[in-house]
Amino acid sequence: MMRAPGAGRAARVAVVGGGAAGLAAARELRAEGHTPVVFERGDDVGGVWVYDPRVEVDDVTGTDPNRARVHGSMYASLRTNLPRECMGYESFPFTRTFAGDDRRFCGHAEVRAYLAAYADHHDIAKDVRLRREVLSAEPIDISSRRWGPRWRVTTREVTVGDDDGGVVSVETFDAVVVCNGHYSEPRTPRYPNAENWPGVQMHSHNYRTPDDTFEGKKVVVLGAMASGEDLSREIATVACHVVLAARGFVPGAPKDDFPVESYPKNATLKPGIVELIPERSGVKFEDGSVEEDVDVILYATGYQYAFPFLANAAVDNSAISAVDNCVSPLYKHVFPPALAPSLSFIGLPWKVVPFPQFETQARWIAKALSGAAPLPPRREMRLDADAFEESLGAKGIARRHAHRMGDAQFAYNDELRALCGHPPLGAWRAEMYAATGARKRSQPASYRDGPIPWSDEDARFAARAEATAAGF
Ligand code: FAD
Repeated sequence: MMRAPGAGRAARVAVVGGGAAGLAAARELRAEGHTPVVFERGDDVGGVWVYDPRVEVDDVTGTDPNRARVHGSMYASLRTNLPRECMGYESFPFTRTFAGDDRRFCGHAEVRAYLAAYADHHDIAKDVRLRREVLSAEPIDISSRRWGPRWRVTTREVTVGDDDGGVVSVETFDAVVVCNGHYSEPRTPRYPNAENWPGVQMHSHNYRTPDDTFEGKKVVVLGAMASGEDLSREIATVACHVVLAARGFVPGAPKDDFPVESYPKNATLKPGIVELIPERSGVKFEDGSVEEDVDVILYATGYQYAFPFLANAAVDNSAISAVDNCVSPLYKHVFPPALAPSLSFIGLPWKVVPFPQFETQARWIAKALSGAAPLPPRREMRLDADAFEESLGAKGIARRHAHRMGDAQFAYNDELRALCGHPPLGAWRAEMYAATGARKRSQPASYRDGPIPWSDEDARFAARAEATAAGF
């Protein structure tokens, strides 16, 4: 790999979104000598960690393209599914209390306060424009083969009451970093008869509290990832009966080590849904069984990537697509080869520890833009991206799981860090992630709390986190 001449180039960079990823982008771009402008359409930084009690109108499946949007998906009772030390950025450890919630698996307000403190610590506020929505980012001046195109970015001021009437501005940037999050656009299965089914159907994006929608009702929760698992337990505290349904659940023969006995007494487990039966308020499952008189179906079926502001971002006949939840083509989940390094994405991988990975990706982007970590030729990046997608098929991995990382995240992070000349992240994070995962599988209802042999581990892990921080 040749080092590009002109290393040390300083770029003016538009960052779309002021969540945890956008803040990391601003910090790392500044550190490399660039000028970031973070456009955040909300009233504050923090993204999904800014709890928003509003919900979208959600008639059947929450996917009406003309609905009024709410970015937030946090529910009121949410506590983190990772210990705070593990979650925190490398450059600003999450080892103390920021909003009075000293639980290691803290509530969302504590994480929001931590993110605000991160922004203060790195003096990021000056780079953020709040209540500014990016409407479009279009490539212009595509003659620069080395740095990729420049960008015409159109933004709109978000007004109180948001009547679409805010002032529109157009500016030119050397690069765009996309940090718009991927927990806002519901992905909901379409079942036969869903339109005529008489009960309430909603997506977990629109769940906030176990309110009277659920009180005394029979509720089917579909999906047993983090949200479905937590929400079915919470809803069971007020509902008369909860059915947790998920592909792969077979009554009496639970999937993997899912501890059925830890489930609330008024809950049952079922496999996936195959159809809805309107005349009986029924739900039919993959094993042929039918649950009748169901009042509510809560779809905890995840989200999809969406980049409406990149609709016109095609260059060399190569557009960015997000078909079947795979953003493609991408070099190492970050750079579209035809547009690199001037277009990049932070935060696409899931089943990861997000904040330190955001920092790592942001650092790589900043160094690719300056020339300090030059990218391979476009053709090579494209071959690598294509090979990655082909390998999914060969390994039997569904395309919609292209950005799912799990244990592979740590090697991925270290690979990007090596490209930046940085040492690997501390091994304690991987250990803590694995230990938390094991505890969650064996004690899904209580893994966040004691009494458990965590005090020793706590001290050990926290000490390592602090050591990492001190050496930073
Ligand atoms: P977001 O936080 O979604 O931020 C994106 C920002 O972009 C938003 O502020 C949005 O307003 C803005 N934006 C979008 N489009 C535009 C536009 N066109 N113009 C301007 N601004 C725009 N992670 C953990 O580490 N631990 C957990 O316990 C955990 N629990 C979670 C629980 C739930 C319910 C959810 C939804 C997520 C959870 N996560 C958790 C993952 C969480 O998403 C990440 O931690 C992280 O906050 C994502 O940051 P982000 O910046 O990528 O996206």
